[in-house]
Order: sequence, then C-alpha cells, then structure tokens
Amino acid sequence: MSKFLSDKFKSLSPYVPGEQPKGMQYIKLNTNESPFEPSQGVLEAVAKEANKLQLYSDPDLTELIKTLAEVYGVSTKNVIATNGSDEVLNFAFMAYTDRENGAAFANITYGFYSVFAKLHGCPYTEIPLKEDFSIDPEDYCGINKTIFIANPNAPTGLTITLEKIREILRTNPHNVVVIDEAYVDFGGESAVSLINEFDNLLVTGTFSKSRSLAGARLGFGFASEKIIEDLNTIRFSTNPYNVNRMTLAAGVASLKEDDYNKANCQKIIATRARVKKELENLGFFVLDSKANFLFAKKDGVRGKELYLGLKEKGVLVRHFDKEIIGDFLRITIGTDLQMDKFLECLKELL
Ligand SMILES: *Cc1c(COP(=O)(O)O)cnc(C)c1O
Repeated sequence: MSKFLSDKFKSLSPYVPGEQPKGMQYIKLNTNESPFEPSQGVLEAVAKEANKLQLYSDPDLTELIKTLAEVYGVSTKNVIATNGSDEVLNFAFMAYTDRENGAAFANITYGFYSVFAKLHGCPYTEIPLKEDFSIDPEDYCGINKTIFIANPNAPTGLTITLEKIREILRTNPHNVVVIDEAYVDFGGESAVSLINEFDNLLVTGTFSKSRSLAGARLGFGFASEKIIEDLNTIRFSTNPYNVNRMTLAAGVASLKEDDYNKANCQKIIATRARVKKELENLGFFVLDSKANFLFAKKDGVRGKELYLGLKEKGVLVRHFDKEIIGDFLRITIGTDLQMDKFLECLKELL
C-alpha cells in the first residue's frame, strides 16, 4: 500500500476470484464457466468487428439492448447492459445502498456483495441461511434495506420461489430488491416478468455462465424505467463505453443463436443429475442445485484436503475457507468426459 491511498480504501479486502491457472492444464471446474465454446455465429461476429476497433463502441448499446428486450419480452427502456453482471451489481450498490439502513444479503452468497458494500462504504447486514442452507424469504420481508438475493444462490445452487420474491418486493416498497439471476438458465425461475408489477425490482443476468461468454464480460439488468435511468446515470458517469465493440457483437450474435445456448444448458442439467447421483453413491451430501455446479461434502473428509488432492491430480474445484461451508466443495459441471475424469480422481482419493 502506498502512503497516498485514500483512508477509505485502506481496509479493503478485494474479491478473490477462482484460480485461472497459467501453466499446467487442469480440468477446470472451479469458476462456473461453460465447458462449451461460443456458437459459430458469435465467433464470426467477433471476427467481423476487429477492423472497426479504431472506433469507440456504441455508448447506447442500441443493438444489444434491442435484442435483449426482444428475447426477454420487455421494453428497451427496461434494459441496461454492462461489463459483466458484476458491473451492474456494482452500480446498484453505488446507487442504492448508502441510504437508510444499507444493504442486506445472505451470510453465504456471492462473495462480491460484501466487497462492493465495503468499497462504497455502505453498512450491510448478513442474514444467516437456514440450517438446510436455504434462504428463508421471511427474513427479508419488511426489513427496509436494499436487498441482494442470488437466485439460484451461490455457492449452494438453491432457489427461492417467485411467490416468495413477490412477497419480499411487496413488503419492501421503499427499497430496491436485486435478484441476481447469474444461474437462472440452469433450472431456476426468472423474476423478469415481475418488473412491470414492482418498481423496486432489479433483475440481473450474465452471459458468463449459460452463454459461454465469461471472457467477453457481458451482463445485463432488467428493471422499471426509473431504475434503469439511475443505473445509466452511473454508467455514463463512470464509463460510457463500458461494453466494447467485440463484446457487443458477441452478445447480439449469441442471443440470435440462443437455441445453441439452451441446448448446452440442457446438457449441463443432465450431467448435473448424473454426477449428483454418483456423488451420493460415494457417500456425499449434495445440495439440490439448480445451477451449473454442485455443492457437496462428505462426512469425515476435510474439504480443503479434498480440494488439494484433486488439484494435485489435475482437477480444479472451488473450496471456500469459511466456517459452515469449509467442508464443502463447489464443483462446476463440465462435459461428461471432464466429469468422468473428476469422479475417477475423486474415487482414487477416497
Ligand atoms: C458469476 C456470477 C456473477 C458475475 O458474473 P459476471 O461474469 O460478472 O457477469 C454474478 N453473480 C453471481 C451469483 C455469480 O456467480
């Protein structure tokens, strides 16, 4: 740390992403990326954009916003696109959490929420999960805070119903409720249909998981026109060209070939069911994930040791050094071949 750093940032502990190994070739099941390449149309669209890189990208993100609105059945005024969904989440923290009672989110959820809260100096409350690792929607009803809920939640993969989300929205009319749907395409139920009913709802999504574009950095948000206006004020106050030309082209092409993405999600869902069963046969306790990962532990086996053992064998999974979930592994669902290799290594270790 230099002596120049602002006091307000001195105690920041930044988000720690899963490893992106450089040397050794791992079977990479640690950051919930898709094991499938982007569709052919995406590859072509990106290549076609290369000779226009001397020009700035469209600050209004027109084509992408239009296509997102079409695919999700909303008006273009209800859509924002961002540099990964982390950016729209960051904007939401900036816009809504330094007021009144700050933010609220689960104690076990996406690690970036607390990082953003600290970055912006927002007070926040972490609400414990229930004993079965699920979110109790009752805990969020009428709490008068800006709420962030990942649905499906990470790293558990568990969901809450639209009925419960409706209840949370209804009982917090003076606060924004953010539903982070990074994993919704793997079996969750989207809250997008509620944006016309509730002016306090912001639904966020990403191309990183179900659309094979983690490296392109593309996220989006759906909300009432006024919330989108707020978020665009912040977008234009930080980086009006937040989505680059190649990523804009990739996003539009990906949405035009969404059947390809949907078919890949179906493959992941089928593989997830198979691997869950196999893990259970090996004595693991596995949560009922609706995401592209499984969260599992085995009594009498230390999560950290299993993680290290798998790594030594060339399989990377995610382990969190955190009480309550320290014995769990979060295992991204890859191709069937990758998962077979993972199971083989796991059996050797056990
Ligand atoms: C991966 C993830 C995100 C962010 O993804 P981006 O790559 O920034 O779009 C947001 N929320 C959750 C819960 C995630 O797991």
